[in-house]
Amino acid sequence: MTKELFLRDAYLREFEAEVVNLNGREVVLDETAFYPGGGGQPPDKGTLGIGPISANVVDVRREGGDIVHVLDAAIPGTVRTLRGTLDWERRYAHMRHHTALHVLSGVIWKNFGAKVTGGRMHADRARMDFSFPGEWTAEVVGEIERLTNEALAEERPVKVYELSREEVLANPDLIRTQTNLVPERVEAIRIVEVEGIDTQADGGTHVSNTREVGKIEITNHKSKGRQNKRVEFVLR
Ligand SMILES: [Zn+2]
Repeated sequence: MTKELFLRDAYLREFEAEVVNLNGREVVLDETAFYPGGGGQPPDKGTLGIGPISANVVDVRREGGDIVHVLDAAIPGTVRTLRGTLDWERRYAHMRHHTALHVLSGVIWKNFGAKVTGGRMHADRARMDFSFPGEWTAEVVGEIERLTNEALAEERPVKVYELSREEVLANPDLIRTQTNLVPERVEAIRIVEVEGIDTQADGGTHVSNTREVGKIEITNHKSKGRQNKRVEFVLR
């Protein structure tokens, strides 16, 4: 069972951990800051090493309760401790895009009653799909961009905390998200709240204030059917 340090501290970019399992190019540590991917956010990259030994982390995945780091070179089986360093520029870009997606999601829910159906972020862009009940025009897209940038500029804190399953189900704002996908056995559900804008059950990493996101610029939008709309954006 790997302790997931990124859940408590998204800004942790270096750590030292004990090797739990070392199998050629795959390493499990007792704790890690490497995000294993999920919820539309890609797995982290970076390095693991000790002294003169170093390897690039090319992929990270969840396997049961463990987080497996996949390396580009084998680490000697005698190594007991490793220092992890994230590719911080890339991860921080994911955090900024992830928080931007939540603000966008809150804005279109509050203003247009549209629910998000999917999202994907990269280091240089992001996209979001949602079911939008009304007419899908350039004016509407422009309005979504304007309202999102207005909300981001309000320097809203982003808070991370846990709620019980009962508390989540009793909150109508949370029901519209993916809470029903959380397994029954999970008692405490991690919540990410962009104050006053959006509250979701979420396992990803976020910036701590919307001021760190900057501005979005919608670069593409399309209608993929009556209920299915997509916007793509970059950060400025
Ligand atoms: Zn999310």
